[in-house]
Order: sequence, then structure tokens, then C-alpha cells
Amino acid sequence: MSKHYDLLAIGGGSGGIATVNRAARYGAKCAVIESGRLGGTCVNVGCVPKKIMWNAATVHHALERAAGYGIQLGEHAFQWPELKQARDAYILRLNQRYGVGLADNRVEVIRGHAVFVDAHTVVVDGEHYTANHIVIATGGRPSAPQIPGAELGITSDGFFDLETQPRRVAVVGAGYIAVEFAGVLNALGSEVSLLLRREHVLDSFDIMLRESLMENMADAGIDILTHCHASALHKENGTLTLSFEQGAPLAGLDCVIWAIGREPHTQPLNLAAAGIATDSRGYVPTDEFQNTTVPHIYAIGDITPRPALTPVAIGAGRRLADRLFGGMSARHLDYNNIPTVVFTHPPIGTVGLTEKQARELHGDEIKIYQTRFVPMVDAFTAHPAKTAMKLITVGVDEKIVGLHVIGDGADEMLQGFAVAIKMGATKRDFDETVAIHPTGAEEFVTMR
Ligand code: FAD
Ligand code: NDP
Repeated sequence: MSKHYDLLAIGGGSGGIATVNRAARYGAKCAVIESGRLGGTCVNVGCVPKKIMWNAATVHHALERAAGYGIQLGEHAFQWPELKQARDAYILRLNQRYGVGLADNRVEVIRGHAVFVDAHTVVVDGEHYTANHIVIATGGRPSAPQIPGAELGITSDGFFDLETQPRRVAVVGAGYIAVEFAGVLNALGSEVSLLLRREHVLDSFDIMLRESLMENMADAGIDILTHCHASALHKENGTLTLSFEQGAPLAGLDCVIWAIGREPHTQPLNLAAAGIATDSRGYVPTDEFQNTTVPHIYAIGDITPRPALTPVAIGAGRRLADRLFGGMSARHLDYNNIPTVVFTHPPIGTVGLTEKQARELHGDEIKIYQTRFVPMVDAFTAHPAKTAMKLITVGVDEKIVGLHVIGDGADEMLQGFAVAIKMGATKRDFDETVAIHPTGAEEFVTMR
């Protein structure tokens, strides 16, 4: 005998939990199936522990600035194990809070791995569950390279398990995780090499952000090595040596972090049993309403080939619930102009088109405004983190189609500007807005 629901979510991460909580508030009978810890990647091995580490690194940067402001600090030391303990306890509280939230909404939590039996049925530990609607929100996992000794390295999941601070680290990769981890470890005092396949980091980002980040990272003491293709990793006398297809190996490492992307959690789900199509990389494609190829089965979040960001998974899930149970038949997430922040040092904020994309789409119709400066907070620092800002406008009315910033405060600066751009702001709207002085953000409304 199977249990039946209005909505069943597979995956209790950002997307799955958001969907069932919203649906349950409309009165739908919901359950969420989770094989690991509630909260998924973001809470347990993603945004949350990462932001805590970034905060720790930011505190270190503040300490470095202290002398310039006449503050003489005494001896101080960083205790990685103490931070990890506090971080783990914080996350445990979040796990519990998710459980309470689901219980408050009368959402049932089913523990275990879900596998499709047919288009309406999944099985978990031998128990069968059926539903009118099923949402797949199983997210992804970090990739590791297929090279000898790869298992001697760790991925982002392993980074959050580290009990002690690695002394000499190689971070392999060029995306969000590689640059964020390299920045955190460097700020906390590890010796960091960042190993790129190409010449630059963050390939899909605006060139100003890429160049400025690499300059800031090099100034901060990160050793950036380009054109590195790792070929093997081996351990001898307690230290790791990373070899490359060409060039000298990197020896004396005590930690190698693979940050080369993520892959979707589709394999164990048996999607074929339900007739759900996947793309060549295993992602579940959907239309703009999150519909898969099977009418009553939907996919949201990192399992889809959409931007892998927590608010995207949550936004798509809540709108799906609004559509299915809230009577809002046209409700769906608009995937245009999604703002994103990279928590580097300094952080990056970006929304809309890059200069390259804007040129490809609009040719000579675009006009670029940019500025670079050392922020006032760093006026008395030996190694100032430089700020760079860019606005990309299109046409005679100069509609803003791209806004990019790297610099202190970029992380908190972006959200408001993203609202303006979503509303169709023009350069004139920015010019007509009174500046807030003295801030870095004011440059966006005073650019000439
Ligand atoms: P997930 O949160 O991954 O949830 C999927 C859940 O499904 C997991 O709990 C998993 O255990 C479960 N599951 C999988 N298969 C099954 C199965 N067969 N049966 C039952 N359960 C199953 N995004 C941001 O917006 N900002 C950030 O700062 C940020 N930082 C990040 C830092 C790191 C290191 C990483 C790795 C990611 C970061 N992200 C960030 C991305 C963000 O974490 C993801 O986009 C988000 O968690 C995706 O949510 P989801 O619901 O799609 O999947
Ligand atoms: P990304 O897709 O951001 O970057 C992975 C990069 O690794 C690729 O772009 C590629 O760069 C490089 N790479 C791939 N294969 C290899 C290889 N064999 N050797 C060396 N380099 C390789 O993935 P991440 O894992 O960093 O992050 C996953 C996603 O999670 C992000 O895309 C983002 O959506 C989300 N995230 C968001 C964060 C935030 O919001 N702040 C923080 C962390 C993650 P290239 O092709 O240039 O070599």
C-alpha cells in the first residue's frame, strides 16, 4: 500500500523545501524526501559555511587595516578548529530550524534515497509513495578529475570537513568555488596556488571583473599559475605532489582542492522509469514553467541546466507552488537579469550582460561607462584592494543592460541596483538619483 500526496519533492535542499513549504501553505498535502541533511548544499556544504569562512577572512582583512588607523594590535592567532566547531554548531541549528519549519507547515519528511518506479511512484527503502505532482530537486555534487591519485585531493565538500588549516594548498579550477576558496585560505594565512587551465578566472564574467580580480588576488599573495593541466597526484612522506601534462610538478602540498565544477544528482534516480528526458550532461531540462518532458513532473534548481544559485532554486520552486496550488496559472521565474555575487576579496557583484555579450547583441549601440579607484577605507593600507565598476547601456535612451562591480561592499551594493535594472532603469535614472557620499556605490550614479 503506497502513501499518496498532492506534491512530493525529491531533495530537501533550497529548492525542494521552498516548493513544499509554499504548496503546503495553500493546503496541499506535501512530503519531501531527503537522503542527507535538511537544507541541502547551500546550508551544509555551500553558501552558509562558505560565507562564514568569508566573514572570517574579512575580519582578518580588517585586522590588517588596523595599523593604518592607529590601532596597535597585540599578538593574535587564528584557531581554525574553533571556527569549524562554531560553524558546525550554527549549521546544526539551521538543519533543526528547517525541520521545525516543515513540521509547522505539516510537510512530511521522508528520510532516504528516492528512486522512480514509474511516472507517479517513487520508492524509498522499499516504501512506495505516489503523488499527483512530483518535483525533482536533487541538486548536484562536486566533480573530481579522472586522473591517477585524484582521490588524494578533496572537493568543496571535503573543504568543509577540514579539522585543521592546510598550510600549503593548491586550488585547481577557475570558477566561483576556486576563487572564493583561494581568497579565504589566503586571507586566513595559508600559502595558496591557484591553478587555471586558461589564462583567466571566471570565464563567463565581464573582462573588467576577471582582470581586476586576478590583479587583486596576485597583490594579496595568491600564486596564480596558468595553462596547468593536472595529470596525476601522489603522496610521499606525508606531502602531496601535483604533476601536470607539461611543466614542473608542484610539490610540498598538504592539500589539493578540486574546484572544477559540479555534476547533477540524476544517476541513482532512475529517471528513465518515469520517462523523464535528460541532456547529454545528465541535467533535467525544463521549459520556463519548470515542466519536464512528463506533464506532472517538474525540475528546479541545480538539477536543471539553469544558473546554480540558491535564490534561483527557491524562486523557481515557490513560483511553481503558486502555479500548481495558488491559482496563479502564468507564474514562473524570469531567468533574465539574475544578479550574482562572488565572495572573493574584494567581492564581485554582477547583473545583466557582459561587455562582450552586449557587443554581440547590440553592436555599436552600446555605450560603456567605467571607473577604477582605491576606496577610502584602504587609503592607509600597504596593499589596497582596488575597486572597478562598469555600466553598459544600449540605445539613445541608454537603457542599462549590464552592471559590474568588484570592490569592498560590492556584495551588499548589488541587490538594490538589480531591482533598478529589472525595472528597466536608464542612465538618466541613475544620473537623476542623488548620490550617497562618501561611498563606493555613489560612483554608479556619478559616472561620466
Ligand atoms: P541542493 O541544495 O543541492 O539540494 C538537493 C538535495 O537533494 C540534497 O540535500 C541531496 O542530499 C538530496 N538528494 C539528492 N538525490 C536524492 C535522492 N535520490 N533522494 C533523496 N534526496 C536526494 N549559491 C548562492 O546563491 N550563493 C552562494 O554563496 C553559494 N555558494 C556556494 C558555495 C559552494 C561551495 C557550493 C557547492 C554551492 C554554492 N552555491 C551558492 C550554490 C547553491 O548551494 C545551490 O545552487 C543550491 O544549493 C541548489 O539548491 P537545490 O535545491 O537545487 O539543490
Ligand atoms: P563553475 O562552473 O563556476 O567553475 C568550474 C570551472 O572549473 C570551469 O569554469 C572551468 O574553468 C574549470 N574547470 C573545469 N574542468 C577543469 C579541469 N579539468 N581542470 C581545471 N579547471 C577545470 O563551478 P564551481 O564548482 O566553482 O561552482 C559550481 C556552481 O555553484 C557555480 O557555477 C555557481 O553557480 C554556484 N556557486 C555560487 C557561488 C556564489 O553564488 N557566490 C559560490 C560557489 C558556487 P575554465 O573552463 O575557465 O578552465
